Amino acid sequence: MFTAPFTFTSEQERLREDVRTFLRVDCREDLVRTRRARPWRHSDLAYRGLGERGWLAPDWPAEYGGLGLSIVESAIVAEEMALAGVPDSARVNTVDNAGSTLLAAGTAEQKAEFMPPMAAAERLFVVLYSEPEAGSDLASLSTRATRDGDGWRLTGEKIWNVGAFKADYGVCLARTSEGRSKYAGLSLFLVPLRAEGVRIAEVAGFNPETFNRIVFDDAPLTASALVGAEGDAWQIVNEALAVERTGVYFYGHAQRWLTLLTGFELPPRAMPEVDRLRSDLSAARLLTWRCVDLLARGEDATAAAAAAKWWTSELTARVAALVWSVREVFSGTETITPRWEGSVERIDGLPTAGVELGVSLSEAPGLTVAGGTSEMMLETVSAALLDDAEAVI
Ligand SMILES: Cc1cc2nc3c(=O)[nH]c(=O)nc-3n(C[C@H](O)[C@H](O)[C@H](O)COP(=O)(O)OP(=O)(O)OC[C@H]3O[C@@H](n4cnc5c(N)ncnc54)[C@H](O)[C@@H]3O)c2cc1C
Repeated sequence: MFTAPFTFTSEQERLREDVRTFLRVDCREDLVRTRRARPWRHSDLAYRGLGERGWLAPDWPAEYGGLGLSIVESAIVAEEMALAGVPDSARVNTVDNAGSTLLAAGTAEQKAEFMPPMAAAERLFVVLYSEPEAGSDLASLSTRATRDGDGWRLTGEKIWNVGAFKADYGVCLARTSEGRSKYAGLSLFLVPLRAEGVRIAEVAGFNPETFNRIVFDDAPLTASALVGAEGDAWQIVNEALAVERTGVYFYGHAQRWLTLLTGFELPPRAMPEVDRLRSDLSAARLLTWRCVDLLARGEDATAAAAAAKWWTSELTARVAALVWSVREVFSGTETITPRWEGSVERIDGLPTAGVELGVSLSEAPGLTVAGGTSEMMLETVSAALLDDAEAVI
């Protein structure tokens, strides 16, 4: 059983209950259909409802569309979304990533223009960091922004983002100069996606949500598109990723899939791994909330977030591996043998749990890669441990 490293306040518990009821009762059928959708799984009903209630960005100041609360409330919403099976890429990209970037480094005008509609679910963003030849080693990217009068011209190619056809803007990392090291000379830009010089295409792949490729061909940007100081984006990018890497969402995924799976009559050979996963999930939840707690206190969470992201995303892969190993239990509609009383829940004629567990097989591998691969997370953890060891010596 999970033991909290700190206790939630009664207001935070009430928020959790309210979010849970909204998602699991008001949005239930819509979410089942959304989870099956392609190319992008996005529930307007859930996302807009969260936005209308101020729950997409509860930690943002009220003047920017938030509720003036803390990252703890934000993580509660993220956890409840994952536990309710809400596809989360819109919130992660728009709020956790692009929004955190603006909050940390945007001008007063940028915050006032973009953050309230982000928090209200009226404007969607994508994150344009990865390139065909730059992922883990992001600082080696080759997209360039060059000065053009007061503004800029953007040229290059970004890949592996999702939902670009629905999004309004991208937050794009580009090289603006050669710096002292490859980490210097990188800058962030707000890029309108339906504009001159911008082409969006789909990339075929295993992920349940179709990836996009975006090509910038001398795309013009105004001076106000620059976020933060020119050439100084590296730290901002890493701080924004720390929120995504708390692992709350990955933990919620793994927990939900295991709960769905154990609703079926599983063969005895599966039970030892079910038990191991249950205890590992308890540890995972502690790791994620420890990380949220560090961020809430304003402390450095880089290594804690890397550890949490690694462990929680690897757990999603382990649950998916278990799903595959007992696939005879739920494959096909006739062979479903639910443990619960009554009939199998169906929406549009399809059993809900079996379909979702099937999707977990194609979703889990990507979770160990998105937001930083497991190998890179372990490298971050080991670098922090070596720093600590050197400090002691
Ligand atoms: C579901 C999903 C969503 C994503 N969403 C976005 C998005 O919204 N925006 C965006 O910009 N990108 C996104 N990405 C891209 C993601 O950030 C990259 O895939 C990731 O950073 C890895 O980069 P890569 O694919 O180029 O792999 P590579 O960096 O080429 O890595 C290939 C393999 O080599 C290993 N490796 C690389 N370097 C090292 C090293 N130094 N030591 C040990 N092992 C190493 C990696 O761990 C990996 O196993 C998404 C990816 C996925 C799967």
